[in-house]
Amino acid sequence: MTEQREIIWRQARPGEERPARPASPAEARARLESGNADFAKLGDHGGQQIISVGPEAFGLPPAAGAGLAQQPFAAVLACSDARAPVELLFNQAGNSIFVVRVAGNVPGRECLGSLNYAVTNLPTVKMITVLGHTSCGAVSAAVDALLSPQVYLDVIQDPSLRAIVDALLAGVRMADQALVNTYGRDIRDAPGFRDALVDLAVTANAAITAVVLARAVDCAVTFGVFSLDNRTVGITGADGWDAGLHDPPDGDRSLTQLLTWGAAAAGL
Ligand SMILES: [Zn+2]
Repeated sequence: MTEQREIIWRQARPGEERPARPASPAEARARLESGNADFAKLGDHGGQQIISVGPEAFGLPPAAGAGLAQQPFAAVLACSDARAPVELLFNQAGNSIFVVRVAGNVPGRECLGSLNYAVTNLPTVKMITVLGHTSCGAVSAAVDALLSPQVYLDVIQDPSLRAIVDALLAGVRMADQALVNTYGRDIRDAPGFRDALVDLAVTANAAITAVVLARAVDCAVTFGVFSLDNRTVGITGADGWDAGLHDPPDGDRSLTQLLTWGAAAAGL
């Protein structure tokens, strides 16, 4: 029998207590992490989840005659991929997350401007998260551009596509180097290398973008990768998959360490 799964957004009943909006970066992080854990659990075991929301989640003001204020507790820079719907995978209702989505979650000027706007004008925003995802098509395009000069020559015919691919190439190169350092140069000919490079480059890109944001925007920043396999957000750490959001690498060594763990876990 197929497991039944339901997510119900329900306006809080009169007198029903709802969790307070996160008031710190740590609370915002915990809210997104627990929301994602609930979402993943629904996928694993089925069942029903009820998200109790205020009227503003339905586009209604909290009281008659009042305005509808924008009050997200976090901002997320995510990929446009339809398999990684931000509010859904964090189990959050409308007016909870300020979302910027662009292919490859690259930090272009418009994206940085949007996030800066949120941090400057929406005091309820306590944290920014960069969210990559496994099997990313944009990162795959950048990987193919690195592996095949002909693919890159095709890409540069289209300036809009080139802008995204060029923004991703630094992460792809770092991931490639980590795999070569771990397995040797011949690994580039191994079956499975391209897929491993895509997923490690996704991690590299999310981590690099988190570093960029931490320097460009006056707000706490975390990052993670949404796994299409287990539906949790996390990264590969020293002991395998480490679910949850993570601080940006604090320098070259911690970024290299992160990619070395990811390369080892690729199991090529
Ligand atoms: Zn993507």
